[in-house]
Amino acid sequence: MTATPKTQPKTYHVKSFGCQMNVYDGERMAELMAAQGMTATDDANAADLVVLNTCHIREKATEKVYSEIGRIRKGAQEEHGKRPMVAVAGCVAQAEGEEIARRAKVDVVVGPQAYHNLPDLVRQAADKGLALDTDMPAIAKFGALPARRKTGPTAFLTVQEGCDKFCTYCVVPYTRGAEVSRPFDAIVDEAKSLVDAGAHEITLLGQNVNAWDDEAGTGLHGLIRALDRIAGLHRIRYTTSHPNDMKDGLIRAHAEVEKLMPFLHLPVQAGNDRILKAMNRSHTRDSYLRILDRVRAARPDIALSGDFIVGFPGETEEEFRDTLSLVDAVGYAQCFSFKYSPRPGTPAAEMDGAVPPEVMDERLKRLQAALNRDQAAFNAATLGKNCTVLIERKGKLPGQMLGKSPWLQSVHLTTDARIGDLVEVEIVRADPNSLAGVAKVKAAA
Ligand code: SAM
Ligand code: SF4
Repeated sequence: MTATPKTQPKTYHVKSFGCQMNVYDGERMAELMAAQGMTATDDANAADLVVLNTCHIREKATEKVYSEIGRIRKGAQEEHGKRPMVAVAGCVAQAEGEEIARRAKVDVVVGPQAYHNLPDLVRQAADKGLALDTDMPAIAKFGALPARRKTGPTAFLTVQEGCDKFCTYCVVPYTRGAEVSRPFDAIVDEAKSLVDAGAHEITLLGQNVNAWDDEAGTGLHGLIRALDRIAGLHRIRYTTSHPNDMKDGLIRAHAEVEKLMPFLHLPVQAGNDRILKAMNRSHTRDSYLRILDRVRAARPDIALSGDFIVGFPGETEEEFRDTLSLVDAVGYAQCFSFKYSPRPGTPAAEMDGAVPPEVMDERLKRLQAALNRDQAAFNAATLGKNCTVLIERKGKLPGQMLGKSPWLQSVHLTTDARIGDLVEVEIVRADPNSLAGVAKVKAAA
């Protein structure tokens, strides 16, 4: 790689793709650059440094990065006559390493466990050309990040990273590394500073967030109970959970901790036991359904959510119908569903029985029709109910504000409440994707 000295960037733009953990990492990267005295810009084409925080989970997500790099370079050249520095962070950086530098001639490649070094890498790249760091120290980065200073009414907080489950289709254990929990005190301190900075709701994040634990055996439920004691914090959520880590204490917390919102994202992926075994999911259809029964017994109004993959290698029509019947049995409030995408280096990528693309398309359509039906039914069931809405932003119409119900539905209402207010609302309209409410009294500010 030729070393072309560049001037140190003064402005930056961070763009995150993929999961909520990437959104969190992107915010932390922005804080790092700001701590160096750099200025953020919303216009990617105008920035001296563009950080693309990437996702490797499906092939489409990976390809997006390369097209985005081309688009930014073209826009920067045409609109501002400049060639910005490009840093590729996140899981594509981890998985592809130098390959991405070769293919896209980027300046910095930094993995998800090394981004605390981003300012140094940018300096190195400006002086000497390509700088690369894809080391995987066990979450050393958190101690090296600046304190949280600014946030909206809702904030993400990563508490656990990596995964040891090795589902046969998934790249996460290879790109994010082994499962590691951040220390209890560090999390509670960060939660307090987020609340001081304006957060009313915190979503605890992890690839297997319900596997979070410490040496004292506190467990995620213990952590949630500690956050429950933070004055000024009104709502707690967590995502994503694995069925095997759904312990009694956490289920009980759903019954006992008022700030813990009635929402559970518990991916199942498929409804057929042979497919679940081939996926190495280590739960069965029945064991999953029994967990949901216990959760519903603890918190009857809980909104359930999940992830599904259609067209896993060898999936027959009959096996796919088991997924549809599981959906019928659960009645989800909202879900994510994907076509299987073979990822290099994963066991499933070597399996026989590829499902033809047109069959995958057709199965995804049928699955999504069932999920949309259930989401509409869940929303319709909230019609006439009273609930609190946390106002997150302004709506498109004058006086309209947008917020979330306890069940994570988008609610719009006309009110003089401000962003960050918790408003007591009656739901007066239920659409398939959102609700409309009428403000009653302001519950808290
Ligand atoms: N740890 C979480 C779990 O086990 O559910 C989330 C992991 S992943 C970031 C989010 C979702 O992406 C998975 O639940 C799965 O549905 C989907 N996914 C992962 N690998 C995939 C692949 N190779 N093809 C299609 N979808 C995939
Ligand atoms: Fe991937 Fe499975 Fe780990 Fe989730 S549990 S991150 S799907 S390997």
